[in-house]
Amino acid sequence: MKERHTKPRKYGKGSRWCQRCGQYTAIIQKYNLMLCRQCFREVAKSMGFKKYE
Ligand SMILES: [Zn+2]
Repeated sequence: MKERHTKPRKYGKGSRWCQRCGQYTAIIQKYNLMLCRQCFREVAKSMGFKKYE
C-alpha cells in the first residue's frame, strides 16, 4: 500500500481524533483509519495488518 499522498496542512492540532476512543494524541492517519496508536494496533490486528508503526 502506498502512502505517498501529501499531507494537507489545513488540519491543525485537535482537528483529528481517534474515531474509536476519541483520543487526540498519536493519531494514525495511515490508510485513512484516523485512529490513535492503541486503537490502530487493535484494528490492524483484526484487519490483518502485520506491519504497523
Ligand atoms: Zn483510539
